[in-house]
Amino acid sequence: MIEESLRRYLDKVSLESKELEKCRKIIQPKPKKPQPQEKLSPYRLEGFECDRCGDEYVEDTAYSYAPSLNEINDYKTYCSNCVVEG
Ligand SMILES: [Zn+2]
Repeated sequence: MIEESLRRYLDKVSLESKELEKCRKIIQPKPKKPQPQEKLSPYRLEGFECDRCGDEYVEDTAYSYAPSLNEINDYKTYCSNCVVEG
């Protein structure tokens, strides 16, 4: 009698952990965006604001991890001073 109830209990526990497993899979984070390239590229911009020091620059070179100028708005831009500091 005791063994029977114990067995039922264990079945229930294993079922619950399977349910938990399902939940965990649903909660998993969405796939990340592709990582930006590692190197900063210089882009000549009409105007930009440095994302590190906050200064605004006109007709100057911005440094960004963006792979192309078209995507620069999706990435942070840094002025030459901030890039030198690393
Ligand atoms: Zn800066």
